[in-house]
Amino acid sequence: MVSKAEKSTLKMLADVKWADGYKCYMCGETAYYEREENLARICRNKECKYEETVLKNSAFEGLRFPVAKALQIIRYLIENSRLNYDKKVFPISEDGKTDRVVTLNELIVIFKKGDSKISQPKFDKLVKDFLADETPYVAGMAKKFEVTVKTMDKFLGKLNVRIGGGKYDEPIYNLIDYFSLGSSILERCLPKLMKRL
Ligand SMILES: [Zn+2]
Repeated sequence: MVSKAEKSTLKMLADVKWADGYKCYMCGETAYYEREENLARICRNKECKYEETVLKNSAFEGLRFPVAKALQIIRYLIENSRLNYDKKVFPISEDGKTDRVVTLNELIVIFKKGDSKISQPKFDKLVKDFLADETPYVAGMAKKFEVTVKTMDKFLGKLNVRIGGGKYDEPIYNLIDYFSLGSSILERCLPKLMKRL
């Protein structure tokens, strides 16, 4: 039995998934039957009958919690990701003598150049502390949305594959970076999360 919230989320995602029309992945047929309870589409070609659920091949496939909750998590990230790249918070000493304070962007540039004294663990710790102070973190989100840390981690990893980019090693940082762009980002990210890779 699919709940009302779940069904309306599926409807919204189905609209995104098949925004350009339905085409059977197996045979190319464009006519389909729709399954009433979960909005899955079944190919009308009698030889084929391939069935594609709304979430199949999307970032939401195989979730261990309702997809309505997945959308809540994304909205939460959008509302709470406010990375301030211009804030000077990182004390560094490149030559081992003079300390100076740099912004996150400057820190990334210095680190990526590779000729600094900042080691990977040191860089990770600086970024982690900064993000933990100002933005969502995995354990806190897991608690808030009543899933295990492992489950949350896995979901964030799936989001990261499609929208996160590769700036940081940890998915949560990439997502915070991405979602710091603002609220209109939901409409922009959903097609990327729904499409077959
Ligand atoms: Zn087909």
